[in-house]
Amino acid sequence: MTVAQRVRQAERLAQVRPALVEAYQVALRRWMGDPVLMAQGLPFVTEGYRGAGRQDELYTHGRSAPGPIVTYKRGGESKHNSLPSRALDVAFMLADGEVSWSPTLLGKFARLMKAADARVRWGGDFPGDFKDRPHFEV
Ligand SMILES: [Zn+2]
Repeated sequence: MTVAQRVRQAERLAQVRPALVEAYQVALRRWMGDPVLMAQGLPFVTEGYRGAGRQDELYTHGRSAPGPIVTYKRGGESKHNSLPSRALDVAFMLADGEVSWSPTLLGKFARLMKAADARVRWGGDFPGDFKDRPHFEV
C-alpha cells in the first residue's frame, strides 16, 4: 500500500467508532500474520462515514440509476451516516493491483472481525436475500 493509500485509510478510520476500528485492526493484524491469507489479498476500508447526500445517491443505484441495488437505506438511515460512523465497508487489494469484493475473502475476513469483537455485525449475515458482504457495523 502506498503512503497516500495509508493516509486515506487513517482518515477513513478516524471517522469510525473506536470499537469498530479496534475490531478491524485486530482482524487486519491476524490476516496480515497469516501468509496464506496475505497471498490472497490485503483488506482495506473502502468507506466509513458517508453523508446523507452520498447515501441518497447510492440509493438511486438499481432504482432510478443503472446497476444493482447496493443499499436499502436512504440518506440519514444508514449506520454509515452517523459521525463517527457505526459501519465500515471492506474490499481487498490483490497482488496485481485489482480491487476484489470476493465473497470468499469477505467471509474469511468476517470470521476474524466477529472473533475480534462479538458486537460486530456482518452484512453477510443480514436476514433476507440482500447480503451486504463488504459491510461491518456495531
Ligand atoms: Zn456498508
